Amino acid sequence: MRFTLDTNILIGLVRQYPRDIFPGLWASIEASVGAHESCICEAILREVKRGGDDLHKWAKDLPGFVCEVSDEELITVASIGRAHPGWVQGQLNEADPFIVAHAKAEDSTIVTEENRKGPGTEDKNQKIPNIADEHSVETVKFFDYVRANGWSFGAT
Ligand SMILES: [Zn+2]
Repeated sequence: MRFTLDTNILIGLVRQYPRDIFPGLWASIEASVGAHESCICEAILREVKRGGDDLHKWAKDLPGFVCEVSDEELITVASIGRAHPGWVQGQLNEADPFIVAHAKAEDSTIVTEENRKGPGTEDKNQKIPNIADEHSVETVKFFDYVRANGWSFGAT
């Protein structure tokens, strides 16, 4: 199974699971990247700077972690823009269509802490899971990702 991670997952790692306290979690994610089972798309790498320079450098330098945007993905991004012209609001969420397009292209599951909004939600309030649904892309939360990988830490 392959997963592509949203910005809020990486920033949450730094803020809630710092590496000095949770080294096993970070090592597990790195092993998953090494096995080509976890990645981020290029558009997310730009946003990751919000989590600090150390996080950005870790992501950028981790071999195989950052996937380039393909032409196929740009076509999906454009179609999302036509279907939901009010969704992207500048830097606030400009990477979001790229995550959906990337997950669709490589048949991966998106890991994000965003919550799905109900029917009839205005474009500007739509979340990644809503748009992912339209493209038959699955989304899970961080702990679902950890459990799907069978990771647990500490005494057994
Ligand atoms: Zn990827």
